[in-house]
Amino acid sequence: MSHSIVVIPGDGIGQEITTAAVQVLQAADAKFGLDLHFTYQDAGGTAYDKYGTPLPEETLAACRAADAVLFGAVGGNQWDNVEPSLRPEKAILGLRKGLGLYANLRPVKIEPALVDYSPLKPELARGVDLVIVRELVGGIYFGERCESEQHDGVERAWDLENYSVPEVERIAKLAFQTAQLRRGRVTSVDKANVLATSRLWRRTVEQVHAQYADVELQHLYVDNCAMQLAVRPAQFDVIVTGNLFGDILSDEAAVVGGSIGMLPSASIGAQTSLYEPIHGSAPDIAGQGIANPLGTILSAAMLLRYSLHVEQAADAVEAAVRQALADGYRTVDLWREGCQKVSTEAMAEAVAARV
Ligand code: NAD
Repeated sequence: MSHSIVVIPGDGIGQEITTAAVQVLQAADAKFGLDLHFTYQDAGGTAYDKYGTPLPEETLAACRAADAVLFGAVGGNQWDNVEPSLRPEKAILGLRKGLGLYANLRPVKIEPALVDYSPLKPELARGVDLVIVRELVGGIYFGERCESEQHDGVERAWDLENYSVPEVERIAKLAFQTAQLRRGRVTSVDKANVLATSRLWRRTVEQVHAQYADVELQHLYVDNCAMQLAVRPAQFDVIVTGNLFGDILSDEAAVVGGSIGMLPSASIGAQTSLYEPIHGSAPDIAGQGIANPLGTILSAAMLLRYSLHVEQAADAVEAAVRQALADGYRTVDLWREGCQKVSTEAMAEAVAARV
């Protein structure tokens, strides 16, 4: 069965890191006979320069028709003065909306060779291997809001948080299914001691849990979860939470990981899902061939696992990344005395050779 993948390099280091990830996917294809077909589309500032829009209709249509999308990054100073609705970053929102990407999966795994890069003590950082499943299209970010109104002669503003049962059911199912592919534990994070939306969230997650008896479920309040991520992050397997809490906790967890260039993500849609590193287009190092491609390569591994369901190939890519690091290969952002400093391209070759 052949698989079609749309690659969107985007701007800045996007070209370099997606080229690296495609090279590794091709190595996985050669080994496991995946029959991958790649096509390339524009988005972001590059697309704006060519077509006057950051997300051409053709790009969105190609993504909708593909089995999966591999995305680099968008943005850069040269588009700072572009009209806000046409800024490169609008491509991301457009893809989220156009593909119905309702959930964001952010794994944070501290590779044994990189334990020292975490700001946490090595004994706390060792063994961290968690995924945050964040609801992406609901909650307070998409609720009604009022920028300013007068109430009894006092100015105020408000934002409305709302969640429906189907929205929570969908994300809870995804979290339980993700846990089934991992260590079988879900932590649902809310603020049910205060918020009505959180009480509906908790009730619904418990109802969905009835269909996943093989998965263990615990609930944590968001303030406690934020503390636990700093003091005992290795306890977590899958964390599932709403849009606002997920935004904050996923950045906290990313810092625990130690290096921005290492972290992958998946945005899950009903039909097509999109895979991208968590970092931006890094204009300060673009075009120099020094960007760390591992976050994008690990995003490609997620693509193999979650969209193409080729578990063995995904495992092989992740193991190859671990081995390249264990063998001392480092891009400049991770380089330390005693390691071998390599370019983006050489890192891709090192990983591809180990797949
Ligand atoms: P950034 O993530 O691009 O860079 C932050 C710092 O981390 C920089 O010093 C950069 O050199 C470094 N860095 C990032 N990725 C790296 C990698 N793979 N290897 C080595 N070093 C790396 O964040 P920023 O500087 O705040 O944003 C730059 C542009 O990216 C902005 O236009 C922003 O809007 C955009 N952005 C895009 C996305 C996306 O496409 N999903 C996400 C965040 C920011």
